[in-house]
Amino acid sequence: MDSDCIFCRRVDLIHQGELTFISEDKYPASPGHLLIVPNRHVPNYFDCTQEEIAELWKAVHFAKALVEKKHKPDSYNIGINVSEAAGQSVPHTHIHLIPRYKGDVPDPRGGVRSVIPSNRTYTKVKE
Ligand SMILES: [Zn+2]
Repeated sequence: MDSDCIFCRRVDLIHQGELTFISEDKYPASPGHLLIVPNRHVPNYFDCTQEEIAELWKAVHFAKALVEKKHKPDSYNIGINVSEAAGQSVPHTHIHLIPRYKGDVPDPRGGVRSVIPSNRTYTKVKE
């Protein structure tokens, strides 16, 4: 428990499990954007226990069912930012479930590959 941590304070909770919870993203990338979070304050996804990882991914499916009912998206992106260089801004592991809608961006090809915009479109990268 870290009292400065927004996830440890359990804001915007929409489901509480034994080891994980689901909350709404405060700054949604799209309508219905949810976060799946371990209860324990563990900054790095790779430091989660196997039990937490199993429940996190079960909760992703549960969260998806909740989003389906309310928003009826066309697709999803699922992502985890692991540490600062990858863009993690809250140091408490969380999985983003980002609903996607036809036409929400002009060219969605590549999906999560867009984290490095210049390498999104399957062109060869210089090493
Ligand atoms: Zn925390």
